[in-house]
Amino acid sequence: MLENMKFFKFMHKQILILIALFAGTATSYIFFGFVYETDHIEILWYLLVLAVSYWGYTLYKQYSDNDLTLEEKEEWLNKLRVFMFIYFSTWTLMFYVYVSSDNIQLHYLAIFTQLGVAVVASTILVSEKKLAIFILISSMLPITLYLLLIGEFYSYVISFLTVVLAWVLLYGSQNTYNYLKKSQFQAYHDYLTRLGNRRYFIELLEDAIKIQKNDNKYMYLLLIDLDHFKTINDTLGHDIGDILLVEVADRMSKLSNEHRGSISRLGGDEFCILSSYCKNKDECLNQAIKFAEILLNSIKQTYIIDGHHLYISASIGVSVIDSPNMTANIFIKEADIAMYEAKFRGRDGVIIFNEELSLRVKRKLEIERLLRFALSNNEITLKYQPQLDNKDKVIGCEVLVRWNNQQLGCVGPDEFIPIAEQTGVIIELGYYILEQSFKTFSDWYEKGIDLQQLSINISMRQIFHNTFVDDVQKLCKLYLNPYLSKKLIFEMTETSVAEDIDRLVIIMNKIKKCGIRFSMDDFGTGYSSLSYLRKMPIDELKIDKSFIFELSEKEEDTKMVKTILDMARNLNLTIVAEGVETQAQKDFLVKIECDVLQGYLFSKPVYKEDFEKYILKSATK
Ligand code: C2E
Ligand code: CA
Ligand code: CA
Repeated sequence: MLENMKFFKFMHKQILILIALFAGTATSYIFFGFVYETDHIEILWYLLVLAVSYWGYTLYKQYSDNDLTLEEKEEWLNKLRVFMFIYFSTWTLMFYVYVSSDNIQLHYLAIFTQLGVAVVASTILVSEKKLAIFILISSMLPITLYLLLIGEFYSYVISFLTVVLAWVLLYGSQNTYNYLKKSQFQAYHDYLTRLGNRRYFIELLEDAIKIQKNDNKYMYLLLIDLDHFKTINDTLGHDIGDILLVEVADRMSKLSNEHRGSISRLGGDEFCILSSYCKNKDECLNQAIKFAEILLNSIKQTYIIDGHHLYISASIGVSVIDSPNMTANIFIKEADIAMYEAKFRGRDGVIIFNEELSLRVKRKLEIERLLRFALSNNEITLKYQPQLDNKDKVIGCEVLVRWNNQQLGCVGPDEFIPIAEQTGVIIELGYYILEQSFKTFSDWYEKGIDLQQLSINISMRQIFHNTFVDDVQKLCKLYLNPYLSKKLIFEMTETSVAEDIDRLVIIMNKIKKCGIRFSMDDFGTGYSSLSYLRKMPIDELKIDKSFIFELSEKEEDTKMVKTILDMARNLNLTIVAEGVETQAQKDFLVKIECDVLQGYLFSKPVYKEDFEKYILKSATK
C-alpha cells in the first residue's frame, strides 16, 4: 500500500502530458493523409485518438475532483492502465495500416513514429513497470518482425538494433523506477526503525477518515510515548538509545501486525498505531484498551543492550475515529492530549481521550496564554489572611495571591500557580509577590501595625531559580529593616520538597542569614519523611487543613493532629493550624495548645485595607 501512495499522483500527472503529446502529434497524420492521398483513413484514426484522449481526460478529472480512498485509487489505477494500453495501441494500429500500404515513405513514417512511441512509453510509464514492459514489447515487436520479414542482411542488422534499443529503453526505465522507489521510501519512512514516518501516517490517517466518512466505520488511534527515554539517551548515550528505539519498534511492530494495525514513528520516542476497522464504538474502545495493555506489557519486558539491562515503560493516549468532520491532525492531537494525561497520572498507563479532557487542556492553554500578561495588565493582587495565637490575638497573616482576568474572571491560585510553575512565569510572579508583600509589611509598620510574622508562599521552582537568594537579599535591603526581616516566614509545600534536598538546604541556609524563617506547608499530605524534616532548617509546621476539617468529637480524628503536634514540639517547631472553620475545631486546638490558628472562623483572606480594619477592630475588643 505504501509503495503506491505517491505513484498515484505521479501517474495522474502523466495523463495530461500524454494527451497533449499524442493528440498534438496525431494532427500531423491528417497532413500526411492529404499529402499521400490515403483515402482519409487518418481522419477516422484521429477521431479514435480524440475519443480515447477524452476518456483519459475523464480519468484525470475523476482523480483531481474527488477525494478518493485508497481502494478507489487502486480501482482508478486499474482503469488508467487499460486506458494507457489502448492509447499506445492506437499508434500500433496506425503502424499496421501504414506498413501495409504500397507507399514505402509511409513505412518509414510508421517505423519512426513507432520508435517514438516506445521512447515515450519508457519515460511516461516508469512507475508502472509491468505496463511499460508490455507496451514496449507491443510497440517494438511489430517493427522487429517487419524488419525480419524484409529478409535482407541490412534488415536483420536493424532488427537486431531495434531489440538492443528496446533493451536500453527498458534498462533506463528500470533505473528511474528504482530511483523513484528509493526516494519515495525515504520520504515516507523513518531511517532508524524503517517504520512509516509522520508524513506517511498522516496520509494513512486521512485516508482512513475518508473511508470512515463513506462507510460509517470506526477505528482507533494509539499514541505511544516512552517514559523517561531522555534519561537513557543522556546517561547511556544516543547509540544505546537508538538500539533501544529499534527494539521497542520491533516489538510493537510485531504486535501491531498481529492486530492488523499500522504502526509509524512520529518522531523521537513517539509512535502511533492505527487500528483496522471495528463494528461499533464500544467494540473499538474495548479493543483499544486491550491492545494498549498488551503493548505496555511487551514494552516493559527487559532489554539487554550492550551488556546493559534496560527497563522502559510507556504512556499511551487513545482516540477513536468516529466523526467524519475531523482531520488527521486533530485525531493525533486528541491522542496526544490523552497521552499527556497518562503521563500526568504517573506514566505507564492508558488514557482514552474525552471531551472533558479536551476542555481541561483548552482551559489550561488559555490560562497559560493569559497568565503571561497578568502582571503587565495589573491583574495580580494580594490578599492577607489573619493568623491568631491561642489567646485570640492577631499575630500575623499569610499572603495569598489573587488573579482577576477580564476573560476568565477570578482564577484560584490552586489552578494557576501550578501552571505558572510549569511555564516559568512563577519567577516573575513570585518576585512581584515578594516585593508587594515587603512593601505592605513596611507600610503597616510605619502605620503602627507591628505584627509578629508575615508568611509568604514560595514555590520550589522559585527557590531553585539562580537569582532567588540575591533577589530576596536585595528586596530585604530595599524595603525592610533587619527587625522586620526577622519576622518573615517562607512557606514551602511538603509535596515538592523531595527533589535535590542537599541543594535546597544550602539555599535555605543562605536565606536564613537574612533572618527569614521557614515553614512546612500542608504538612501530612506529602511524602517527606521525618529524616527530611530533621535535615531541613525548618521553624514552623502547618498542619494541612484536611486534618482540621476532619476534627470532631471522636477520639480517632483528633489523634492525628495530636501526634503531629507532639512531634513538632519534640523538634522544637511552632505549629500552625489552618482551615479552622468552627468553634469546636478552635476549642480543641486551643485545648491542645496549638500555637497559631488560621481559618474562615476568624477571617477569610482580605485585601490590605480590610486587613488594617480587622487589626484595629480586634485590638479594641
Ligand atoms: P495554602 O498555602 O495551603 O493556602 C491556604 C489556602 O486555604 C488558601 O486558599 C486559603 O484561602 C484557604 N483557607 C484558609 N482558611 C480556610 C478555611 O477556614 N476554610 C477553607 N475551606 N479554606 C481556607 P487559596 O488562597 O485559594 O490558596 C490556595 C493555594 O495556592 C495555597 O495553599 C498555596 O499553595 C497557593 N498560593 C496562594 N498564594 C500563593 C503565592 O503567593 N505564592 C505561591 N507560590 N503559592 C500561592
Ligand atoms: Ca500556605
Ligand atoms: Ca496549606
